[in-house]
Amino acid sequence: MPDISNLSSEIEKQLPAELVDFMRRAGEVAASQGQSLYLVGGVVRDLLLGRTNFDLDLVVEGDAINLAQQLAGITQGKIITHPRFHTAKLKWNKWSVDLATARSETYDKPGALPRVKPGSLANDLFRRDFTINTMAVELIPSRYGRLIDLYGGRDDLKHKLIRILHERSFIDDATRIWRSLRYEQRLDFKLEPDTLRLLERDIPMLDTISGDRIRHELELILKEEFPEKILCRTEELKVLPKLHPALKGDGWLAERFGQARQLSYPDLPSVELYIALLAYPLTGEESEELISRLRLPKSLAQTLRDTSSLKAKLESLADPELAPSSIYHLLHGYSQPAITANYLAADSSTARQHIQTFLSKLRYVKPSLTGNDLKKMGIAPGPQIKEILQRLHEARLDGKVTSKKGEERLVSGWLG
Ligand code: ATP
Ligand code: MG
Repeated sequence: MPDISNLSSEIEKQLPAELVDFMRRAGEVAASQGQSLYLVGGVVRDLLLGRTNFDLDLVVEGDAINLAQQLAGITQGKIITHPRFHTAKLKWNKWSVDLATARSETYDKPGALPRVKPGSLANDLFRRDFTINTMAVELIPSRYGRLIDLYGGRDDLKHKLIRILHERSFIDDATRIWRSLRYEQRLDFKLEPDTLRLLERDIPMLDTISGDRIRHELELILKEEFPEKILCRTEELKVLPKLHPALKGDGWLAERFGQARQLSYPDLPSVELYIALLAYPLTGEESEELISRLRLPKSLAQTLRDTSSLKAKLESLADPELAPSSIYHLLHGYSQPAITANYLAADSSTARQHIQTFLSKLRYVKPSLTGNDLKKMGIAPGPQIKEILQRLHEARLDGKVTSKKGEERLVSGWLG
């Protein structure tokens, strides 16, 4: 890691030219308005670590919305403003930058959203989660590139430590418990010993966090490169069981997550697939408890329910004598991630093979004849048409018929 107090050459080397130009211009505009402007948070940490990160977070000592409006003119970008929070998001070309007015936060009660008021840069950095995320870089021309490190972030980066800023940090906001383990495992750091002690002390505070906020943190974990490392660590520290006591961050999960990545390559597995695997050991009733704890949106909740009811059918799917039409009926109607999760979790190789046949072939099988064709053959509109189409579908699935002509012969035969 570079031991430096000015990051301008890191910025130049590691960020795309368009963003570098943007930051210089932004610094100039801020200075001309008599405001101070800083690059803060994750991107500063990652510049020092040499990790790719183009998510710029800017803090303005002054008025972020006004600055964002000026910059929207210069970049010909669009802004979305949140006057209540004094923040703005600026988007142009493929870039997106967050601007926030420096603020201080206080917590009325644990787990509640903070009360926010304008403050200094030091206040703004002190409200953050870990020292490694509290560094800032000056952007106004006379001080461009200067590193501001008020809370020992660079030292902790050097020693690979995740450290909270004060003793009540996890009490104020217990989502930081999850966040700390996400950074620890992503960066291959360690929790600093006092932070670890306070984390263990404050685990009961996880109950103060709303379902939406916990779900958000879980989703962030599942978007990491190796989510299983984080989940295993949350199990070790008894954080995962607070989400639901039947969840397991173990070797089984690690293996399935790895297989899910192989299967999805070159894409990453969806959050849905990962959650279905995470919830796999749960009973139907336990899945419902998890669904309500995390306030899962409808489609994710459906995936967990599908996963669980399909799990109950794996035994039937393991029968080597199953006709293709039976395989079809066992699997159709379930969400794709639920089917894939069961494919990855199934012990029986026959069941896996059947699922694969369904996914690659059976789910696409359709009769060639349509309802209209049947009407033209003289069948009266009504329930009989539906019934015949279903029988044709079965015959197609089981390979008893392979052409439109064959289907017509079959139907004629049925009609006598
Ligand atoms: P990354 O996006 O790489 O995970 P980041 O540092 O950009 O890291 P974000 O989640 O984008 O993280 O948040 C931006 C900044 O906001 C962080 O650097 C952190 O300092 C702060 N932050 C986010 N969540 C919290 C929280 N719950 N408590 C305190 N500070 C937070
Ligand atoms: Mg970020």
